[in-house]
Amino acid sequence: MTSERLKPTPNRGVLDIAAYVPGKETAPGVARVYKLSANETPLGPSPKVRDALADMMQHLELYPDGQSHALRDAIAEVHGLNPANILCGNGSDELLGLLCQTYLAPGDEGIYTEHGFLVYKIQIAANGAVPICVREHNLTADVDAILGAVTDRTRMVFLANPNNPTGTYMPVEEVRRLQASLPGNVILVLDAAYSEYVRRNDYESGIELVSSNDNVVMTRTFSKIYGLAGLRIGWLYGPTAIVDALNRIRGPFNVNAAAIIAGSTAIRDRTHLDRAVDHNLRWIGRLTEGLEALGLRVTPSVGNFILIHFPEDKAINAEQADAYLSSLGYILRRVSAYGFPNALRMSVGSEEANEGVLAALKIFLEKK
Ligand SMILES: *Cc1c(COP(=O)(O)O)cnc(C)c1O
Repeated sequence: MTSERLKPTPNRGVLDIAAYVPGKETAPGVARVYKLSANETPLGPSPKVRDALADMMQHLELYPDGQSHALRDAIAEVHGLNPANILCGNGSDELLGLLCQTYLAPGDEGIYTEHGFLVYKIQIAANGAVPICVREHNLTADVDAILGAVTDRTRMVFLANPNNPTGTYMPVEEVRRLQASLPGNVILVLDAAYSEYVRRNDYESGIELVSSNDNVVMTRTFSKIYGLAGLRIGWLYGPTAIVDALNRIRGPFNVNAAAIIAGSTAIRDRTHLDRAVDHNLRWIGRLTEGLEALGLRVTPSVGNFILIHFPEDKAINAEQADAYLSSLGYILRRVSAYGFPNALRMSVGSEEANEGVLAALKIFLEKK
């Protein structure tokens, strides 16, 4: 064969993956844009982060601490954990990928649920494993359906709790029941990206389950309530053996210096965190009521976003609503790729943004 006939070929399965498409960021021609498409916080990060970063900016020639000690210590202190069981990453997306890279081989199966976060499916497939999508019940992950899909090839089960984009959650008793019935060689990945927002007595982020089992990990992020999505900071809490394995293959400096200092400063500012929780609780309630008063159906959410369902009507469906809202600068998220062709996901924004969307939707629905 001549060299001209040879060409680089991606690994099996890679070209079957549909690349992740983030929410829109802009509305062309509109002066004031309210981005409500990526579940970012309207409060921004703790004001203390700015000062901490100013100092770090004087030393950009230095490599970051490859072990992220300051960040892991801060997380451990706040959550009462052993820093040895914490691994930080370039966003929790990196950690989800590392888990798949470390524990999935071609032919293995990874389970995710019907309306689950799409990064799971991508990372399972990226490692040659087979993504198995399991039915949900009432837009919520279902333990029996998940257990029914487990085979002797299953190596990983992903559960976003609360889930994005539905905002629903699985009570801790159900998560325990799921863990208790999984084979010991299957890792249960609890993605708790929105856990800080949840105020429910029957919810637990996963810390207890990780502490008492060898096959459970929990991932968290600084992208949502901490307002640091731009710096890419995630962390994982897991059993010693899993953290050890992941540490062997991660990039040696996978968390940058700005991320380490910003994350460790942000997580200690509990006043700012409380402000963000209060703002969210107030507005998730008002938005739910306001949207229902307009005759729209919403899925009850424990996160910082809300799934809005539109009527099956040519003039007032999700696509039309999205176009109208965008023309006014309100950017929401289309969620067809998550199995909701006729819904939009809206992040809880500032008072101005939230009121603006309610007012705009009122006009949109009346006009039709
Ligand atoms: C936003 C989000 C994340 C966070 O990803 P990062 O890489 O940490 O920014 C993780 N899981 C879910 C379900 C999310 O919605």
